[in-house]
Amino acid sequence: MSDLKGKVIIVTGAAMGLGFAAADVLAAKGAHITLVDYNPEALEKAKTELSSKYPDSEFLVVTADVSVEENVKNYVDQTVQRFGKVDGLYNNAGIEGKQAPLIDYDMEVFKKVIDINLLGVYYGMKYVIPEMQKNGGGRIVNVASVGGIRGVLNQTAYVATKHAVAGMTKNAALEYGKDNILTNAIAPGAILTPMVAEAFKQVNPQDPKAAETEYASRNPTRRLGDPTDVGNLVAYLLSDQNGYVSGQVIAIDGGESNMY
Ligand code: NAD
Repeated sequence: MSDLKGKVIIVTGAAMGLGFAAADVLAAKGAHITLVDYNPEALEKAKTELSSKYPDSEFLVVTADVSVEENVKNYVDQTVQRFGKVDGLYNNAGIEGKQAPLIDYDMEVFKKVIDINLLGVYYGMKYVIPEMQKNGGGRIVNVASVGGIRGVLNQTAYVATKHAVAGMTKNAALEYGKDNILTNAIAPGAILTPMVAEAFKQVNPQDPKAAETEYASRNPTRRLGDPTDVGNLVAYLLSDQNGYVSGQVIAIDGGESNMY
């Protein structure tokens, strides 16, 4: 369980959901972690919980909005100041936006989704890659979605930005593989996090649980994903055990995206 011992990994969107679950798995494997989020209270709570569970890991908290370039530069600079290097980036922070048919999509929301999901991921790579080059390499995992490989009804902005994440991932892998920087994207299906719970509320405001059960019944595994399922994949991709997987968009969805 110690294949990330001494590694320094930045996790964005670390206060809850997939980011928090991954931070838990990474710390269990011995990593030191910079926890980044724009929700300072939830971030402190996450740090307190992780510090007491993993006393051998060090946690640095940086409040940052990933859509603001200077904030991203700052979380990378602070990580290097504290730990001296960056081995991994879990570029996870993202939002769904509001669900609406394509022609009715609110442009303010569309632009916000682009700023966070697309530019936030881009800035993360922009500032972390030079540090990884200095350090002899690194591993990046960008969070796309099954909405980065398929369409999803009423989620035009989300789908557009997640396809962009898949594209940027391929480019980063092509351009920086020579520096021993392996970059992949993950494409989660429905994983039960606060974001997905909110989506079920939008689908069926009277009975979100019914929407959840209906959704899970379509999956080959008959369940939604657990955030730890995703954390385990992320930990592998960020470790040195991953020596040759790069530029891939890896679905983690119980096989659902293969269904016709
Ligand atoms: P979540 O809403 O449960 O948690 C997201 C975290 O990111 C929150 O702590 C939030 O404060 C933070 N965050 C949001 N915008 C931010 C910003 N601009 N700057 C800094 N922090 C910010 O969401 P989640 O379900 O854990 O999703 C995490 C990522 O996984 C997202 O990119 C999402 O699109 C993707 N994803 C999730 C699922 C799923 O089923 N949960 C499926 C596919 C993709």
